[in-house]
Amino acid sequence: MEFELKILGSASATPFLNRHQTAQVLTVGTHSYLIDCGEGTQRRLMEHKVRHQRLSTMFISHLHGDHFFGLFGLLGTMHLQGRTEPVHLFGPAGLDEVLTTQFRHSHTQLSFPLEFTAVDPEQHALVYQDRYVTVHTLPMRHRIPCCGYLFREQPKRRHLDKARLPTGLTPAQYQALVQGDDVLDAHGQLLVRNLDVTTAPKPSRSYAFCSDTLYTESLSALVQGVDLLYHEATFLDDMRERALTTHHSTARQAGLLARKAQAKQLLIGHFSSRYRDLEPLLREAQAVFEPVALAVEGLVVSVAE
Ligand SMILES: [Zn+2]
Ligand SMILES: [Zn+2]
Repeated sequence: MEFELKILGSASATPFLNRHQTAQVLTVGTHSYLIDCGEGTQRRLMEHKVRHQRLSTMFISHLHGDHFFGLFGLLGTMHLQGRTEPVHLFGPAGLDEVLTTQFRHSHTQLSFPLEFTAVDPEQHALVYQDRYVTVHTLPMRHRIPCCGYLFREQPKRRHLDKARLPTGLTPAQYQALVQGDDVLDAHGQLLVRNLDVTTAPKPSRSYAFCSDTLYTESLSALVQGVDLLYHEATFLDDMRERALTTHHSTARQAGLLARKAQAKQLLIGHFSSRYRDLEPLLREAQAVFEPVALAVEGLVVSVAE
């Protein structure tokens, strides 16, 4: 099953030619999740061939414009296209108010239900789940309420080892074993124990999106062992004082967090427009952690099962 992250934007607050503000799409199985929605995201979706119809669940980290100004355009286009399927939107309190005001003053009655859930950015809590994933918030330390999101695949079923199956199982008994149940005989006595005829499932894959934040070592405990870690790296480490005053992180700090969290792979992004060349940011993170990649527009990262 697919577990794939697509990067649509890598820039921080101020625009930069050919770099766009934060937006990502995580696809797990048949579901796609939009993570942040910087200005112009609907155009990035077109460029990178992500169809609006596939997006029904969106997660916004915070209400700085570079993370959500694209929502007006995207939701407006969905409306103009006559969408009727609901959109589930998660983000800090106030986001619904901003959108509602915008739509009220443009006399827009959306053609689809927009179901908003306010998350508490200070908590590490389960906020969403479906048949593919669970999503927990990750508290960030930023100038305004801000959270990241941890996506984890739902636990998988154990694998049936057909060589270990007894003969003469009925279809219903076989199905019970596939479902993870034990098989009992007509008198309620244990006939086949599931654990005896199955092998451990593949581990659930995970992706942690760490949005705008000060370097926060305690975050590593919440994302320990994560397969893919995105961490902002707005500055190089010689600008760490600036990072501190603006509540951002450096590339080196992103590497340190990945190392502390024992992540399998790190992506860095949210680059300041002061950096034309991003290689120094990559090298700085690499000095403390590998593997690491620049989360630039069009990058696609798949996590193998
Ligand atoms: Zn930002
Ligand atoms: Zn911000």
